[in-house]
Amino acid sequence: MGIPRVKLPADARPDTLAVREGLPPSQYGENSESIYLTSSFVHPDAATAARRFANEEDAFVYSRFSNPTVTMMERRLAAMEGTSGCIGTASGMASILMLVLGLLKAGDHVVCSQSVFGSTVKLFQDFAKFGIETSFVSQTDVAQWQAAMRPNTKLLFAETPSNPLTEVCDVRALAHIAHAGGGEARALLAVDNCFCSPALQQPVKLGADLIIHSGTKYLDGQGRVIAGAVCGPEELIETKFVPVMRSAGMSLSPFNAWVVLKGLETLSIRMQAQSARALALAQWLETQPAVERVFYPGLPSHPQHTLAMVQQNGSGGAVVSFIVKGGREGAFATIDATRICSITANLGDTKTTITHPASTSHGRLSEPQRQAAGIVQGLIRVAVGLDDVEDIKADLLNGLSQLA
Ligand SMILES: *Cc1c(COP(=O)(O)O)cnc(C)c1O
Repeated sequence: MGIPRVKLPADARPDTLAVREGLPPSQYGENSESIYLTSSFVHPDAATAARRFANEEDAFVYSRFSNPTVTMMERRLAAMEGTSGCIGTASGMASILMLVLGLLKAGDHVVCSQSVFGSTVKLFQDFAKFGIETSFVSQTDVAQWQAAMRPNTKLLFAETPSNPLTEVCDVRALAHIAHAGGGEARALLAVDNCFCSPALQQPVKLGADLIIHSGTKYLDGQGRVIAGAVCGPEELIETKFVPVMRSAGMSLSPFNAWVVLKGLETLSIRMQAQSARALALAQWLETQPAVERVFYPGLPSHPQHTLAMVQQNGSGGAVVSFIVKGGREGAFATIDATRICSITANLGDTKTTITHPASTSHGRLSEPQRQAAGIVQGLIRVAVGLDDVEDIKADLLNGLSQLA
């Protein structure tokens, strides 16, 4: 029995998997995948229902556990990340919650980059009250990760490149530290692959065990839904995360799964196009007299440029940050002079977005914490979309020309 698979050659390449992996069509032979908006599934008889509830037969039972449209998205994303399993979640944060609930218990220890998404830091800090302690270390200094390892370290958590300064961590080195463990047991390395997506970076190929996604960002790519996923070995997904999903219910809605499923079909060409525009914008920003510094992994001036090019398939990604003259006033003037860029802290949209991290995404930090993290008042982050880059340059020049 079991849920059938799409018939594809075993050596089908990533671009093909991105448009075809999922589930076989229904008896109607639809070419575009269906949205199964149903909360439950009907069984032919009571004995079959009993077997399915007891997990003795693989079938759809209830959409808190699994759903055909969600399964299509999971299979497609797993194929693109190069993992054997994936589980969709209601949001990116729900996938990190799932990770903690599925893998850790009181007394366990986590080592996490201090440069991860703000809500991720908060979530790991909150788990201290359940006896799970987290040490926050430098994004780029591998020695700090090594030094933070303890006999009870079970998980290393990284996100690369970081937001908004695009610092790159060495996934291979972190995998090595995780697998050597801090005591007898080996720890797992989880990587939040939000910024590059599998189109540019496949952390599992560099040794990571689990991949975290906010489907809200590039996977959908058009700013329409909140979604998330954990990718990893199927055995781990089935034994650690599926039971959490059944009992805790941070399930992905079939409609949102369908939107992400469709987004995955164009992920690779979007990431290439948006990264090419981001590189052009970053190079141009470096020549602007009102710009003090540009942060973009695709520029040779980036401290981890060489590592980024190896890990990210030769691409810098689509997020560019830069410091303008005049501190907060200069940054606000630049943002307020734009007519095209959307002023929003979201990213991964086809529409280019612009934000002032010090007063939005990092606004809850104290000024000394922000200084330590390098989030200065003059910093602006642009997540480049599919707008014509010449229009984006002109949009930024409106404000920059007043500062120089
Ligand atoms: C947005 C984001 C998240 C959280 O995702 P949601 O879908 O908003 O819950 C996690 N990690 C990174 C890197 C993000 O950018």
